[in-house]
Amino acid sequence: MVLADLGSRLRTALGSVDSGSQDELQSIIKEICTALLESDVNIKLVAKLRDNIKAKLSKNINDDESLTNKKKKLQKIVYDELCSLVDSNEEPPKPKKLNHSSTTKRKNGKKIVSKESSHVIMFVGLQGAGKTTSCTKLAVYYKKRGYKIGLVCADTFRAGAFDQLKQNALKSSIPYYGSYLETDPVKIAYEGVSKFKQDKFDIIIVDTSGKHKQEQALFDEMIQIGNMIQPNQTIMVLDGSIGQAAELQAKAFKESANFGSIILTKMDGHVKGGGAISAVAATNTPIVFIGTGEHVGDLEIFKPTSFISKLLGIGDIQSLIEHVQGLNLQDDEGHKKTIENIKEGKFTLRDFQTQMNNFMKMGPLTNIASMIPGMSNIMSQVGEEETSSKIKNMIYIMDSMTSKELDSDGYIFTEQPERIVRVARGSGCSVVEVEMVLQQQRMMSTMAVNTKNMAGAGGLPGGPG
Ligand code: GDP
Repeated sequence: MVLADLGSRLRTALGSVDSGSQDELQSIIKEICTALLESDVNIKLVAKLRDNIKAKLSKNINDDESLTNKKKKLQKIVYDELCSLVDSNEEPPKPKKLNHSSTTKRKNGKKIVSKESSHVIMFVGLQGAGKTTSCTKLAVYYKKRGYKIGLVCADTFRAGAFDQLKQNALKSSIPYYGSYLETDPVKIAYEGVSKFKQDKFDIIIVDTSGKHKQEQALFDEMIQIGNMIQPNQTIMVLDGSIGQAAELQAKAFKESANFGSIILTKMDGHVKGGGAISAVAATNTPIVFIGTGEHVGDLEIFKPTSFISKLLGIGDIQSLIEHVQGLNLQDDEGHKKTIENIKEGKFTLRDFQTQMNNFMKMGPLTNIASMIPGMSNIMSQVGEEETSSKIKNMIYIMDSMTSKELDSDGYIFTEQPERIVRVARGSGCSVVEVEMVLQQQRMMSTMAVNTKNMAGAGGLPGGPG
């Protein structure tokens, strides 16, 4: 079962609490486990998840509790367990920006040479996993965040690898290093890293060769390059569509390259990502990013809580903030106000309007829709084109509101329900659509409060939409 279907199966199961009886809860757990198994999640992990959910249910849910409470508790327990299923509890290194103004400092009149050095990231993985593509995606990701970044192509095995990296780098205006003539990847890697280090680059990304399968020559080459360039971080690029095989592959690479982080590619919603994710989680290595398409912007930070929130259609305000931060909108007043509001635990209708407008500029829609509560459900039912027109309608709806309404928390409409009808008429949409926008904004606002309270500590940000 592909990831998008897993999400909708889990949402349906969690939304189907009717009586809250023990029998019903047990059959919901069974359905959740079956869906996970069909998505290729490791059987041992599913068994552990099932036992943990059952234990927590019997500890936390009483028979005489209200149905709403039972529903909420079940959702929270399942959410927490799914999060820990994909969480390695390890933190990847965070690159620092170098001090570009001077390389020397003075202390008590003495010159001190700065020990700051570039953060070197080495990419490893099999051919076709998406290494070269992910190198550029990561470079663009850091460039957008103000890092000085360079790319080195040490893949001399695959014909055309240097050209591919060069084209990508040129398109994104990222300095690159490589050679058409040199055949020794260790030499190229060393020269490229030395050059960029000399030029005080904050981050240097080195793409290495990937052979067709796990063979000794590949591992030997990786070890030699690693010894030569001494990377601060080694990232393994793993094809997310290979299911359970990911575990063996990750283990084999771990033994020779000792990578510390993983980028899972091709997680575009059409793969059984559950297999790779759970297999990888079992190697105790953090997945740092997931590739969600062939475009250079199709790279998402992987955070267990965000990933599960999106999978369950809860929406994900943290990714939303990060996504918006990546848009380089520092000078945009509306954007600044939204960030301030979120920090204060607020999310007004105007914030919603600003973000939706930004989204339409940014795309791709598939990535964005999953951050809004309830949108992934709509997307899986009606497809991208209709979702796009629904998002446009949401913008028309908010454009038809008054300034006072936009700056409110949305409850102003509860006091004046006739305004809902007016806004519907003004925007050419239905009353139900206006109510839906209000409901989504309310959920985002709850998430903003939770984000402030928990400062990213996890927990159920809302209810499945
Ligand atoms: P490498 O041999 O590991 O360097 O692999 P490439 O970077 O050349 O990628 C192999 C193929 O996978 C190319 O056609 C890429 O466009 C494609 N690819 C890479 N990442 C993704 C992704 O996240 N989603 C999708 N759909 N395709 C991807």
